[in-house]
Amino acid sequence: MPSIYIETFGCQMNEADSRYIAERAAAAGYSVASAAEEANVIVLNTCTVRDNAERRAYGRMNHLNALKRVDPSLRLVVTGCLAEQDRDRMKKLAPHVDAIFGTRELAALGEQLAAWQTNFDDVDFSDDRALLTSLGGRGDAISDAFSHLRAFVTVQRGCSYYCTFCIVPHVRGRFDHRPPKAILDETRERIAQGAREIVLVGQTVNAWNDPASSDDFGDLCRSIAALPGLERLGFISPHPKDFTEKILDDLCSLEQLNPRIHLPLQSGSDALLRRMNRKYTLAQFDGIVQSIRRRLPECAITTDLIVGFPGETANDFQATLDYVRSGVFANAFSFIYSIRRGTPAARWAQVPRALALERFAELLEAQNAVTRAYHDSHVGRTVRVLIVGDSKKGASRLTSKALDNVTVVAPKPADYPYPQTPWLDVAIETAHVWGCTGTVVGRAARFADAGMPVMRPLLDLIASA
Ligand code: SF4
Repeated sequence: MPSIYIETFGCQMNEADSRYIAERAAAAGYSVASAAEEANVIVLNTCTVRDNAERRAYGRMNHLNALKRVDPSLRLVVTGCLAEQDRDRMKKLAPHVDAIFGTRELAALGEQLAAWQTNFDDVDFSDDRALLTSLGGRGDAISDAFSHLRAFVTVQRGCSYYCTFCIVPHVRGRFDHRPPKAILDETRERIAQGAREIVLVGQTVNAWNDPASSDDFGDLCRSIAALPGLERLGFISPHPKDFTEKILDDLCSLEQLNPRIHLPLQSGSDALLRRMNRKYTLAQFDGIVQSIRRRLPECAITTDLIVGFPGETANDFQATLDYVRSGVFANAFSFIYSIRRGTPAARWAQVPRALALERFAELLEAQNAVTRAYHDSHVGRTVRVLIVGDSKKGASRLTSKALDNVTVVAPKPADYPYPQTPWLDVAIETAHVWGCTGTVVGRAARFADAGMPVMRPLLDLIASA
């Protein structure tokens, strides 16, 4: 059986696309490999939202050329935003790439995989290959015992808002809202496959609408929540300006809604928000935060922030810092502005790199203190979490996610793993900036079930004997 290796750069949208590619490959008779050196086809699903992601993708293409020299039958495919943006340049810079598919050509990629499927002889994945690919990178879209539990369902692609820093509308095109029937059918299928949590994914997910019925994102979420068996519901990433009172009412009336809303602010300065073409002021943004809090007082609000955007003055940065220090965000993904060719901000005078780095460090420190305080508030509580899998730091511990998306790590109970009872009750003992640690005290098959006791870890039993 031929095998495919998929490496993903960038956002949740790319991760959802990689899962789609893996499913198309599996349907065409491929297995999904966990290492590049074990694959007949390698897919790089690229990102171009930041310069760093772009450079890493080109670097990876060059690394993988070494594998192709050892095994000329290997096929290297590039997809994602960089493929969309750089198709012609990529053909010159990386002529060894066998096929390039843009973000709207995934169906064609699936067909190409099916066409190649019979072309592969039984390759002996020799030591030469193994030696060549200790090159970094991580396989994606690989199924494990728990990967079906959290299912990402794409509801919308593209974006029509043209923020001046963002490449997405240029490479993914304008809004393309998926019809509700397709979304509901896929969600039903995921629930039947054992998904305990559905995460709706879109570049501007709450702008979703159905022209045929005039339904908005709130209506869509209500329809999804009414599906039999849906336990938890989340979504990523919304645009603040698309949260109407009606949508918030709809969302907050759903008992399955996870108490975490990602609300990308980008900057706390109105002048900068205007230059970014974000279409809201800080006061309007804060109004949405208050609207959420009125309805869901415990909701964790997380955000994205950009530092060093062209024209950012000391006062602009201070406005962002002050808002972050007010403690509004449970967590934030902060980035230094990165020039994207073809966007308006790329042509504007840039903030000196050293100054941007300095501001970034200050912002990180401020948000880390707030995040740590938020995590501290979990200590002493028992929280219900969904298993993700083994901890990256060692197989004796498991990683899970709480409903507010906080990472929780705990020693594995003796009778782990148990994908049939993936909800764990963890007594939180310590907090860190990255998340919390604790002890598993119960497990349940369904979110609403009472927790059953777990067996304590063997080492623990020996120590107390
Ligand atoms: S809303 Fe702005 S930042 Fe988000 S995808 Fe659209 S253009 Fe990019």
